[in-house]
Amino acid sequence: MMGDINANIRGLRGIGEKKAQAFNKLGVFSLFDLISYFPRRYEDRSRLSHIALTLDGESVCVCALVADTPRLSRIRRGLDIVRFRAVDGSGAVDISYFNQSYLKDKFHRGESYYFYGKIQVSGSHRSMTNPVFEPENSPRRVTGKIVPVYRLSAGLSAKDISGAIEQALAQCIDSIPELMPESLRERLRLAPVELAYKNIHFPADEKTLEAARQRLVFEELFVLACALGRMRGQRSRSGGIVMPLGDIEEFWRAMPFVPTGAQRRCVDEALNDMCSGAEMNRLVQGDVGSGKTLVAAALVWYAFKNGRTSAFMAPTEILAEQHFDTLTKLLSPLGLRIVRLTGSMTAAEKRKARELLANGEFDLVVGTHAILSEGVEPKRLGLVVTDEQHRFGVEQRARLVGKGENPHVLVMSATPIPRTLALIIYGELDVSIIDELPPGRQKVDTFAVDESYRARLNGFIRKQIGEGRQVFVVCPMVEENDELPQKLKSAEEHAKELAQVFPELKVGCIHGRLKPKDKDAVMAAFVHGEIDILVSTTVIEVGVDVPNASLIVVENAERFGLSQLHQLRGRVGRGQHKSYCVLVSDSDGEDVRRRLRIMTRTNDGFRISEEDLRLRGPGDFFGSRQHGLPELHMAELGADAQLMQQAQTEAAALLASDPGLTFPEHTALRERVELLFSKNAQGFN
Ligand code: ADP
Ligand code: MG
Repeated sequence: MMGDINANIRGLRGIGEKKAQAFNKLGVFSLFDLISYFPRRYEDRSRLSHIALTLDGESVCVCALVADTPRLSRIRRGLDIVRFRAVDGSGAVDISYFNQSYLKDKFHRGESYYFYGKIQVSGSHRSMTNPVFEPENSPRRVTGKIVPVYRLSAGLSAKDISGAIEQALAQCIDSIPELMPESLRERLRLAPVELAYKNIHFPADEKTLEAARQRLVFEELFVLACALGRMRGQRSRSGGIVMPLGDIEEFWRAMPFVPTGAQRRCVDEALNDMCSGAEMNRLVQGDVGSGKTLVAAALVWYAFKNGRTSAFMAPTEILAEQHFDTLTKLLSPLGLRIVRLTGSMTAAEKRKARELLANGEFDLVVGTHAILSEGVEPKRLGLVVTDEQHRFGVEQRARLVGKGENPHVLVMSATPIPRTLALIIYGELDVSIIDELPPGRQKVDTFAVDESYRARLNGFIRKQIGEGRQVFVVCPMVEENDELPQKLKSAEEHAKELAQVFPELKVGCIHGRLKPKDKDAVMAAFVHGEIDILVSTTVIEVGVDVPNASLIVVENAERFGLSQLHQLRGRVGRGQHKSYCVLVSDSDGEDVRRRLRIMTRTNDGFRISEEDLRLRGPGDFFGSRQHGLPELHMAELGADAQLMQQAQTEAAALLASDPGLTFPEHTALRERVELLFSKNAQGFN
């Protein structure tokens, strides 16, 4: 009989209203939801251990003979114990059960049982408390196999879940849709869908379980890759502006320095898009200081050669100013007319800028969100660049794109993330990576210290400033619900302290409660050298360039993630001065020490982000669903990187032959992809 996999779980034996509600809480409504409720882990009870060889703390399965008559003793009211000794050929173990007095008569001296549980070893004495058991010569249900462990919820036991899944599988195993095209399944040797669902819940053995897992992980990543690939396809097929003119060598020759190989490659990849007739949607990822601005400048020049204008948008005033200066220096000698448009300009200045844009008397506009305002209508817009992408929402990017007719889009991000993850997060964008720094860049020497170094640190700050340098000091954001006994310093308090320690120096402070305009003013004063020490929360994280700053001190460094620390460190070492990063933390937590140690050992942003991903997992890596990553049930991005790559390649190949997934053999796949879209309607960005 073919059961309906969309049937409600209420139809199952043993599931009444209460249990159904408990399942609903876990997101399980239909039989399909139920069989897709995968175990979190497994207990391997399939291997028998010799008692004498077991190690303290190990969970083991032993087969042992009850060696004495079980004794019941009452410790106090409400606490009794059944105890006996069991032996196998190798040794003995003392077994106790708490508050299950009926077990006294269940075990018989001289009979053998399987026991599964955690072993405790002290000296040569071994014991087990409340092990799972069954008689040696009865059908084995809870030992002798690999047993799934599910996430439970109030009102549901492991038995409830297993039992329900067993019924659901019996009813509908033959109607689970096979999403994977047969040829693909054969080529990659993926287990058939029935086998996969059966064994993920009730593994026959380790090998089959692994095959089941592989298949389901691949399926999950493949569906995701197809969903993202379709989004990308929908955007870029709609006719981009073809830009066939211009020799990029001419641009490189005009630059003050030779491009790195990586810069050259990124530009070539983008130029390919811009010549292809499709719309470019490209992310350029490069570590801090890798020279992303030059890549953008090359493309702006190229659009100019093709009679098109460009818009360059930065997330803050100060960054927009900096980009305006840099790009003017690089591009105006080549004949480009560059216009600035930021919120802090006067009304008259803005009007003037808008006019230039509307009349097409410009080649590049550089600015902030102000570019997005009503009435800003840049003529012949062919290229849109946004810097530091995590500060802009998709919607803002879309609005900027809407100012032209299908302009090419380049997004620049300084948050290096592992490539596999980039494939998912920026799935609708093509990705170029600048994995090389310009030559001669000095590494930032990094030290992790504790409070006992405070006096020396102050001396070091004084010395740097004495040599004409400037110093960043970063404090964690203090949340209202933080417990303060642990000496968390707010930026404001710390700035006051520093002002007392260094009465002769100018100390500035940027914190969350300042208005954006005031923040920018303090920042500008620092850029212009009017402030020696700038104390702030992480607002300085985004790519501000203060080449004269040679030291960054991070207070309570344990409060920052690895990638964040790396971003912060990137604020120094941008000029010709030898630069330093000091991470101050009194925490002696194991993983804090590990994080800080990684920082002191490497300056490579990609390595750091991989470590970060490993330490924290993808969820925390980006904060709570900030990037709209759909929840993955099977795949672990750190561990399944290779499968992700493979899923991506296969999805791309499949979409190339059937972009709309309209072939009859792709119907099941299309339905699943659409399900993913509907569940994450506003989730993707
Ligand atoms: P980021 O990728 O962090 O935005 P920038 O574009 O600000 O990096 O570049 C960092 C610094 O490196 C700038 O001062 C820039 O002039 C310099 N730079 C960029 N490309 C090169 C290169 N190929 N050779 C030497 N210096 C370069
Ligand atoms: Mg930059």
